[in-house]
Amino acid sequence: MAKAQETNIMDKIVSLCKRRGYIFQSSEIYGGLGSTWDYGPLGVELKRNLKAWWWRNMVYERGDMEGLDAAILMHPKAWEASGHTKSFADLLVECKSCNGRFRQDLLKGESCPECGGELSSPRRFNLMFKTFLGSVEEEASTVYLRPETAQGIFVNFVNVQGAMRRRLPFGIAQIGKAFRNEITTGGFTFRSREFEQMEIEFFVEPESAKRWFDYWTEERLNWYVDLGIRRDNIRLREHTQDELAHYARHCFDIEYKFPSGWAELEGIANRTDFDLKKHSEFSGKQLSYHDEEKKEWIVPYIIEPSGGVDRAALAFLVDAYREEKVRGEKRVVLGLDRRLAPIKAAVLPLLRNRPEVVSMAKKIWENMRGPFRVTYDDTASIGRLYRRQDEVGTLLCITVDVQSLDDKKVTVRDRDTMEQDRVPIENLKPYLAEKMEVK
Ligand code: ATP
Repeated sequence: MAKAQETNIMDKIVSLCKRRGYIFQSSEIYGGLGSTWDYGPLGVELKRNLKAWWWRNMVYERGDMEGLDAAILMHPKAWEASGHTKSFADLLVECKSCNGRFRQDLLKGESCPECGGELSSPRRFNLMFKTFLGSVEEEASTVYLRPETAQGIFVNFVNVQGAMRRRLPFGIAQIGKAFRNEITTGGFTFRSREFEQMEIEFFVEPESAKRWFDYWTEERLNWYVDLGIRRDNIRLREHTQDELAHYARHCFDIEYKFPSGWAELEGIANRTDFDLKKHSEFSGKQLSYHDEEKKEWIVPYIIEPSGGVDRAALAFLVDAYREEKVRGEKRVVLGLDRRLAPIKAAVLPLLRNRPEVVSMAKKIWENMRGPFRVTYDDTASIGRLYRRQDEVGTLLCITVDVQSLDDKKVTVRDRDTMEQDRVPIENLKPYLAEKMEVK
């Protein structure tokens, strides 16, 4: 029973996302493309807000971080150095009856989870998408769509450090697309083949690595909670020794309690000096740092908080979804934090058949546009308009009525408290700005 209810919430989110313009299936008119998604008018705002706050909190508010936007395509040797060409692979098994393909490590039993058929013995399947550089389709010109943004940071370590005259400790932050030809997909956008990562590589002196690892684990967990994830729904899980990636000494996952169970939102790893040493070895270039005080060259250790934008967006959506009873009627609300809500205010005329009211509402809408996403809707009765805005998480509904024509005031309704304020039209912009003010 509990299980059915939980899955039901995910179904409701998927349906809401499609109906209200958050997330659409990619190339839907052609039947869709497996595990790729298009973010609609509201989804793109949510993602932009998420990324903007990550950037603000992780880069602007800190004195020890630089930004980067590296290319998706990299020299193929970079992927040899990182180990991806050889070992970025999952063990894949195939069902001999229905031909379904599954990741062996995610299987619960020994037979096909779809039809119960016999499974083949596992073979390695590389998750990197291959393509060709230039016009010759041959092995020598093979390049890959990056499966993570991290390597673009490692290979630029010396460039950034030198150009910005940085001393340890400092970090490089990057947000960008990554691609993985995942075998087992599903969970809506949770496991996509094209997705965005927000990654930090934080370079430290080797002896301080453990301290910085603890610091970043805490810092990143708090970031999600500060932006609205309920503390009970998020946790840290330490990797066991046999789970650790070959490059990592220490790793924590930040997990969210999705309706189907706990799953990773972000990983924080102590990658030691593995990456810089490997890229030095493969490129023949020295990727080290000169410690002016000690007068010696060192290879910094790297602490990596690596999160997914899409997974975070999904977790924030699930966490914000609630159904309430208001005066005997069901109300669906997306209680997204004000910083993340795609639409900050909606201007709604109470009477859509009164041209003066409509015209005044449109004028207010026009004046309020600029710093925040503000919308206008007159396509239904006021009750319906409120419900629509609640369902997508709009913070304020500004209603223009006949009285507004006389007193030049409007009714402003708060999404969460549903309290209504009568606000002079000329004060609306500062009123919204104050609501949005960062504390
Ligand atoms: P998983 O075990 O779930 O496949 P991972 O451990 O391989 O994930 P990492 O390589 O640590 O993931 O990537 C860092 C982050 O990038 C993840 O925490 C996740 O938020 C995001 N991410 C990774 N793969 C995907 C994907 N296929 N779709 C969406 N986000 C992803």
